[in-house]
Amino acid sequence: MQLTLEGKFQSSLLDWYSKNARILPWRTNPSLYKTVVSEFMLQQTQVKAVLPYFDRWMRLFPNFKVLSEANESTVLMAWSGLGYYARAKCLHECARVFVKTPIDSYQGWLNCKGIGDYTAAAIASIAFNEAVAVVDGNVIRVLCRLLNITEPFKTKDAALKIIRPIANQFLSKTDPGKYNEALMELGAIVCTKQKPCCEDCPVKSCCKSCQNDTVHLCPCFVQVKRTRCKMQRYWIRDTDTFLLEPSTVGKVFRNTPQGLLELPAMTFRRMSVLGLGELIFIGKRSIGTKDFIEQIYIPRKKINLQSLILLPEFSNCVRVTFDQRQHLAFTGPHKRWIAKLLQ
Ligand code: SF4
Repeated sequence: MQLTLEGKFQSSLLDWYSKNARILPWRTNPSLYKTVVSEFMLQQTQVKAVLPYFDRWMRLFPNFKVLSEANESTVLMAWSGLGYYARAKCLHECARVFVKTPIDSYQGWLNCKGIGDYTAAAIASIAFNEAVAVVDGNVIRVLCRLLNITEPFKTKDAALKIIRPIANQFLSKTDPGKYNEALMELGAIVCTKQKPCCEDCPVKSCCKSCQNDTVHLCPCFVQVKRTRCKMQRYWIRDTDTFLLEPSTVGKVFRNTPQGLLELPAMTFRRMSVLGLGELIFIGKRSIGTKDFIEQIYIPRKKINLQSLILLPEFSNCVRVTFDQRQHLAFTGPHKRWIAKLLQ
């Protein structure tokens, strides 16, 4: 019997995955909880960055119940450095919902706060084998290349609208969980954004862009304009303590929840107390379409930190010892920059 393109793609992909799947902690003795945690952590974040966090998370919160009973600051601290902190809050909330009413369907997961189509589909298909296709940047890329779709997409949503029906058409209805994992794996390690390994690709014989030599044209996204923003901050320290403040830039960094610690921002009122100071470090971070440059200054004046935080300009600052910082929740970039400043 002759296989359809979909059938040929599925069988080549599943066969390859059964022999080449990476050994990852959420795939070893898999469970619904591991799947949920890994899918939250993997949103916008690479596997390599997730691995140490996943292991630590499992030690701290081994199941939904323990997570649901943890307080928010402990949860945020365990997430500290992984970025996009709204995910930690939503995962925490999901655990609280789940222990009251177990969720076992795509629609059920989709109703949870902070879970979109992709995560709901990944959880429902991997943990419950529900036949719903995952569609993310990796899947868009693989399917566009497979079918040689070169039309320009203005946004990711526009691409999703076109690709989702195709993804459901190609989905294995008998083994949707494994198929989805295999497709994501192919996008992550073979059909990569910059250097796809077409020579070693298990679905090469089905791939139209490879046959037409148009791989570099798929997918095509209209370039988004990026904006640059500058901020100034203070590094205020004495022999063994330094100042931090809860992030007050939620409006600027929309994904940074209030409560995570950062170096104090340089405001006009603070400058009237400390002056500009000396530039000692420049940190860079990108969030969405914004590229931030944060210049960190050390005050030139000798400062008594205890008196400084009594001033209204610094009333929201906290004074912490260098050792205490190990137990505090920072935003990822500030955690790294502070480690450098202390070297
Ligand atoms: S042949 Fe190349 S472009 Fe096509 S799916 Fe494989 S890696 Fe991607």
